[in-house]
Parts: sequence; structure tokens; C-alpha cells
Amino acid sequence: MKNNLSPESLMMTHAYKPEWSEGAVKVPLFLTSTFTFKTAEEGKSFFELAYGIREKEQEEQLGLIYSRINNPNLEILENRLCLWDKADDCAIFESGMSAISTTLLEFLNPGDLLLFSSPTYGGTDHFIKHFLQKIGIEAIGFYPNQSKEEIIQLIENTGKANRLSHIYIETPANPTNDLVDIKMCKEIANYFSKSQKEVFISVDNTYMGPLWSNPLEHGADIVIYSATKYIGGHSDVIAGAVLGNTAVIKRVKTLRTFLGNMASPHTCWLLLRSLETLKIRMEKQASNATEIADFLDTHPLIDKVLFLGKLDKSSKSYQIFKEQYSSSGAMISFYVKGGEEEAFRFLNQLKLIKLAVSLGSTESLVQHPASMTHAGVCSELKKKLGIEENLIRLSVGVENAKDLIWDVNQALHVMKPEPVLEMI
Ligand SMILES: *Cc1c(COP(=O)(O)O)cnc(C)c1O
Repeated sequence: MKNNLSPESLMMTHAYKPEWSEGAVKVPLFLTSTFTFKTAEEGKSFFELAYGIREKEQEEQLGLIYSRINNPNLEILENRLCLWDKADDCAIFESGMSAISTTLLEFLNPGDLLLFSSPTYGGTDHFIKHFLQKIGIEAIGFYPNQSKEEIIQLIENTGKANRLSHIYIETPANPTNDLVDIKMCKEIANYFSKSQKEVFISVDNTYMGPLWSNPLEHGADIVIYSATKYIGGHSDVIAGAVLGNTAVIKRVKTLRTFLGNMASPHTCWLLLRSLETLKIRMEKQASNATEIADFLDTHPLIDKVLFLGKLDKSSKSYQIFKEQYSSSGAMISFYVKGGEEEAFRFLNQLKLIKLAVSLGSTESLVQHPASMTHAGVCSELKKKLGIEENLIRLSVGVENAKDLIWDVNQALHVMKPEPVLEMI
């Protein structure tokens, strides 16, 4: 076969041969907890690899042992997901949060310093500030508009610069679509790396990956996904993924084996189905988003639209956008004229677009960050991040763009308070 086929062409075939399963065109669901060894010698040899007693021989693959360690649905999914990010290896988890927490636990030790971009996903923020703190890992946040020099100074000011061991980035930031420069973070990582201790960079690429951004190409060591979002894409599964080079993923998978938070065969089977339509879904979502953003941008009842397709071309963000992304994506945030009352009136009036958190699915979803996804953020930080009472976040789905615009438009009409009639 041609050896430079595109990922979307390989999503129906890669890493699976029908002759393995009675000629089944689709990967069957392997509902088994354990696998028979042909001989005792084979079992011994599989375990030697699984427990790192010996190194893999060339072309050797880890044999199937037990579904907490590996399972065909898990492995085929991991192999296919690698194609989009051109990663050596991948580890799939039962949630995005387990992908994130397992990675941070593997690469940080008590006494270490973690640098992270703020704002970050609520669950990640809580894990960093409460759990990691409890086990003696200090964390320091930086904002997307801070310069390299300012961030280096922030790290120096902690007095623990020599313990910096990980940089965790989420870009674009949720819900404001602020961008973090991965290359700049790589320079910071290099600045603090020592020959015995390299500072690793993880990027949560849930918003733009795996189609529109591949952080490994920009200097990241690890890419993380909530596969619940675009990768799953149908709001019917919770899952996560971590990708990187062989050595990094070996460490992540080893900890996964002992935490036992790998994805189930059924979760993987659903994700394998989703990957077949990943590209057409995401492309349609992005083109719909562009049409909606254009509509919102000129609407008199909208104060401002935060969308990667609407960045000021002279801004630093625009330069980062051009460097890191190949699409403006399908997440739009916007400020309606008014406050919480107007925002709620708008949300309550939508007919087609569903009022729910989460994102990246076939159906459009809308929510109010200040009182929902970011309710836990203190009011001072909310203000600093631009999470105002009149901010709405919209995840655009695959519906007809005209229908979505109709829905937004009719809800805005109802949102507008009736003009007070002067009684003469
Ligand atoms: C949803 C989400 C997560 C958490 O993923 P789960 O699958 O819900 O555990 C992490 N990061 C981002 C950016 C997300 O949107």
C-alpha cells in the first residue's frame, strides 16, 4: 500500500487485520479480562516485557496478558490515535482527568515545582492546587499575555527554580480562547533544564486537537486529550489520551497499570467508531463556527466575540495562532449586552442549541462559564480572566449553520429588554 496515506484514510484499517477476527470488517468488541498463553514460556516472555525485566527486541510487541495491561480494543485505538499527532505511542484512559492526573503524578515528585498556564480546566486546577499541594508539589500559574522574561522571573521568585520539573499548558484557554506560545514555554523549559533533569512540557490539546494543532511539532513532550470532547464527539463517552515518545509513554502506561485507570474495551470500541468521522465532523464544526462568529460579530446585541478567526492581525495572539493552529476551531465565546439576567434570558430561549457543559460534540452546546464551568473560580480571578456575567460559551456542532444562526438570532431578540414605553 502507498506509505504516505493520510490519517483519515487509515482510521478504518490501521493496526487491525480482518483475518484476526473471522474476517470481521470492523474491530470486534473484545470483552475479556484475560488472554490464554500458547505455552508457559510465552507467558513468561510476555511478563518479562510487561514488568520491564528485559528490553523489547526489535519489532517485538507486548503480547496480550490481561485487560488492565492491554486489550485489542485499547491497543488498536492507541495505534490509530498516534497517526494524527505523529506520536510514537499513546495511552488511553477512562477519562481526560485520569490522563492528566496520571501524567502529572508520573512526572512530578514531592518537593518539585510545577509551572502551569492559567486559566486551566477546572478539574485540572483543583488537582494542581489541592491534591498536588497536599503531597508537597508547589505550583505556580502564569497568564497567556505574560512574556518569557516575566515568567522566568516568577519562577526565580519562588526560590525553587532548581526544582522546576514540569510545565503544563492548556491552549487555547477555556473559556476565553487566549493562546499560550508553546515555543516560548520550550525556551523556558530549556533555560531551567539540567543535564540530569530535563523539564518536560505537557499540552492539553483538547480544544484544537488532534486535527488543527499538533503540539509535539512545537516542542511539547506530551500531548493530553479529554477524548470525551472532539475525539469521542457524540457526548456518549468519557475518556482521555496521552501521547508522546516511546520512553515518555512507557512511564505513563506503567503508572496506569498500577492505578488501573485504563479505558474499558467498550469505551475504546466507541472511540474507534468516532475516529472514522473525526475529520469530517471537525471540519464541519469549524466551518459552522466561522459562519456563526461572522453573524455574532456584527450583531448589535453582542459586545465582543472571542474566536480564533477574529483575532486582531497585529496582535501577538495572531502570530501564535498562525504558528500553532491550522483552523480557527469551533469554540466561540461572546459577551452579550447586559449581565447575568440577559445572558440567562438568552440561554433559556434557545430552541435547537442545548444548554449543557462539555464541548466538541455533534450537537451544539451552550453554557454560562461564570456560573457553571468556572463557578469555582474566585471573583477576583474571574475578573482578571474576563469571565464576566455576560459571557456565553458556545461549542458548535454539525447542524446546518443557517439553523444555528436562526436559533441564536431568535434568542437574542427575546433577550433584549422591551423598551420602556413613555406614558404621555
Ligand atoms: C473536559 C476537559 C478535561 C477533562 O476531561 P474529562 O474527560 O471530563 O475527564 C480536561 N481538559 C479540558 C480542556 C477539557 O475540556
